[in-house]
Amino acid sequence: MLDCFSMYDISILKEKLTNPKRIAVIMHTNPDGDALGTGLALTLFLKGQGHYVNIISPTEYPTFLSWLPEIKSVIIAENHTQEALLEQLGNVDLLFCVDFSSANRLRAAEFILKQSNAFKVVIDHHTEPEDFADLFFWDPKAAASAEVLFQVFEALGEKEKLTPAIATCLYTGLVTDTNSFKNPNTTAKTHRIAADLMDSGLNAFEIQRLIYDNKSLNRLNFFSFAISQRLVVLPELHAAYFVIQKEDYKRYELQCGDTEGLADYALSLEGTLLAAVLKEKDDNVYLSLRSVADVPANLIAKKYFNGGGHKNAAGGFSKLSLTETVDQLEKLLKSGLFNLNHQ
Ligand code: 5GP
Ligand code: MN
Repeated sequence: MLDCFSMYDISILKEKLTNPKRIAVIMHTNPDGDALGTGLALTLFLKGQGHYVNIISPTEYPTFLSWLPEIKSVIIAENHTQEALLEQLGNVDLLFCVDFSSANRLRAAEFILKQSNAFKVVIDHHTEPEDFADLFFWDPKAAASAEVLFQVFEALGEKEKLTPAIATCLYTGLVTDTNSFKNPNTTAKTHRIAADLMDSGLNAFEIQRLIYDNKSLNRLNFFSFAISQRLVVLPELHAAYFVIQKEDYKRYELQCGDTEGLADYALSLEGTLLAAVLKEKDDNVYLSLRSVADVPANLIAKKYFNGGGHKNAAGGFSKLSLTETVDQLEKLLKSGLFNLNHQ
């Protein structure tokens, strides 16, 4: 199964984990199911091995994932001062960077990475990793970071010993990053890993239900409103996008993560090859991009919206106003640069 790192890398990791260590696990801003699932699985595993572990998210995690095992122990960096964070995390022995390969995905929490002298280990599946760590467990072909971490556990000889809680966290990473094994990043290997995780005693039905069928009425009403009032369809360009205003967040009392899944509704529209959600929040407009086939969502995000991601799922942000960002996106789509008419 091993093709994204060597047994030499595993031997280095093993050596680092021989004695109890002080460890921090950090994930990207606005963590999703994969960042949280992978980070929490790793945290549970390391704690089980007798290490002292802190897990950090730069920003709040989505409310719809608040049932994940161990999630209450996640330190939300934005709720603490830099001094307090450095006091707690500044002198850890090991720093695991989970589900990101660009330092700027930590946004305001980037100082934790920059100021740390710890031995740094990346566990990730995004393209073009930056050289900020000492050891990389990295595979851009993996459906999720959870898939990479599972293979690390397997190579460490721990596959048979994964607890149901660890398996639940990893399975959540697989399910959310593949959209229930539906996206084209899903491979036979992904399914084999999912099957192995099921053997560890998780409840797959319950996990899917908690992720997808556990919405508040507010959230459902918001989706209905967004589809009827905030969806712009450009059939001739095979594109559709949602524009979510600040006041919509207030009106529907949206919690962190409540817009998750919205882009998929735009993409579910017949003939759509590119879908976007533009979200007006704080002083930025955040973009979620989803695409089909060879439409490069990640290139659009990287080149025009300070972001990146995968070919069919990417994100970024703009400092322009919401209207200006919408204009920019429409111009881009109409420019023909992305060949949306010719897929
Ligand atoms: P989402 O739309 O769910 O926020 O993100 C979709 C994908 O794009 C995820 O794989 C996520 O990791 C990636 N992504 C989102 N925002 C950014 C960003 O600002 N920079 C980079 N490099 N990737 C991002
Ligand atoms: Mn992620």
